[in-house]
Parts: sequence; C-alpha cells; structure tokens
Amino acid sequence: MRNLILEIIKQRPLLFDGAMGTMLMKAGQGSLKTPILLNLDEPDLVTDIHRQYYAAGADVVITNTFGGSPLKLVADGLEQQMVELNREAGRLTRQACPDGKFVAGDIGPSGKMLKPLGDVAPEDMLDNFFSQAAVLIASGVDLIIIETMYSLDEALAAVQGARKAGDILVLASMTYTRTKNGFFTVMGENVSQCVAALEEAGADMMGANCTLNSADIIDLTKDLRAATDKPLLIQPNAGKPVTSKGITYYEQTAAEFAADAKKIHAAGADMIGGCCGTTPEFIEAVKGELANS
Ligand SMILES: [Zn+2]
Repeated sequence: MRNLILEIIKQRPLLFDGAMGTMLMKAGQGSLKTPILLNLDEPDLVTDIHRQYYAAGADVVITNTFGGSPLKLVADGLEQQMVELNREAGRLTRQACPDGKFVAGDIGPSGKMLKPLGDVAPEDMLDNFFSQAAVLIASGVDLIIIETMYSLDEALAAVQGARKAGDILVLASMTYTRTKNGFFTVMGENVSQCVAALEEAGADMMGANCTLNSADIIDLTKDLRAATDKPLLIQPNAGKPVTSKGITYYEQTAAEFAADAKKIHAAGADMIGGCCGTTPEFIEAVKGELANS
C-alpha cells in the first residue's frame, strides 16, 4: 500500500477529504463535545459522511478519530473505550472505501502539554500515540495522518509512536499561523525547524492543515516545498467561521477554495484536502479544478 500511494503521488495530485465536524454540524450533531462517540452511537451517519467524500472524488478519507488518543479520551472520561472507538472508526471508513481508494487513520493533539510546560513526560506522550496508532493500524488503515499539531515536540512523539506501532506510511501535518515574520506554530517553531525534525523522527510525508484559509496557505505551501522533498499534503480551512442567527458558516465558497487549490498544487502540494468548513462540495470542486490543470 505504501508503494501504491507513493506511485500515485508521482503521477497526479492525491485528493483527501474535507471536514468531519462541519458535516456533523449539518447533520445536527455539531454541538457534540466528543464526536468520536458517534463511531459507536451513530455508525450509519459516520459511514454516510465518509461515502459522500469518496463519491465527491476523495482518494483518501480520514477516520473519525481526531480525539481518540488515550490522554485526550481521559479528559472526556472515555479512556476505557479507546480500543473500541478507534477500531470501529477504522472499520466504518473501510466499509465506505471503494476499491482502489484509501483510508487514513487520524491522530490529533492530546490536549495535554509536555513537561516542563505541562505534566506529561515525553515517554508517556509517545505511549499515548503508540496506543492509538496500534489500534488504527490493526483496524486496517493504509496510512497514519497526524494532524493539527501545534507543538513540534508533541508531533515528534506522535510520529515516533506511530513508527513504533507498525510499518506504515506516516504523515505529519502541523498547523501554522501567519505572522509578519513568516509562518510559525503556536509554540513558536518555524517551517524548516518542524520539517527537519519530523523527517528525522521518521515521518514519510509532511503537511499543513487548519488555521489558515486557502489563500493564505499558498505561501506556506511554497515554504514547505522549499524545506522538504517529501510528499506534501495541504488542507486549509474554508476561511473563518461566521455565526449569524444561530447558523455557523464559513467565509469561503467551494469555487474560491478550488481556485486556490490549483495554486496550492502549483506551489508544490502533492496532496490536497480540506479542513474546517469544507464539505464534499468543496472536494468535488477541487477535483474539477485539478483535472483542468
Ligand atoms: Zn481545521
């Protein structure tokens, strides 16, 4: 599977899915604090969203396991269900996945800080991600995507944990904010620093997601491309959320987002998907634009 994915990337851009949270909001489940529980409580809803993304043209769909690491689940009182929640998520995504397409096991931040800022020891952080990655890999995912990481040290623990859990492609995607001095994580790390350390830790593929909209992420894509030869995944938000009369929507339209996706591809992204605010409509529009490039 590793080679198949890398072969496709050499030939054409690989398309990822859009947001899960935005789709859950549309389905009336947006207020849920723990969307991962839907893997057990509303499996048909989760599978249906995955199916919509594959139908829209996504080659890779991400499991509903963003908050599924043990440390994160402890905060929600769900640690006893860690194995079940992640295993079911892998199964539901695979169920929706057509032949020739792929499933990525999703790993998000732990919500905890490493020592000395927080109280988690490095080896415990590594174990946290190892445990989740091991369940996702056993459930049959084709790759692991570590995403929305705002701390390089935590992302490194996640890459090391996933590496330890199995021989599988590992993608590490950080979230960066734009400053007048360039792009930085919330913890103050810059692009070249992140990429070099993540490569050293064993990440096969690099990425950036969330925080920035599709226009702002074009320059970040150029910086990332200059910093690494590894395959690159870019997943912007659809702008900022706006709430009006109790309804939340995102600033960008699918057409605007897709026009930028073409520029993101030209700037060096091998893989493109969407983060907050994106829906199957966005992914379909991106597919259309990329087909014309
Ligand atoms: Zn996001």
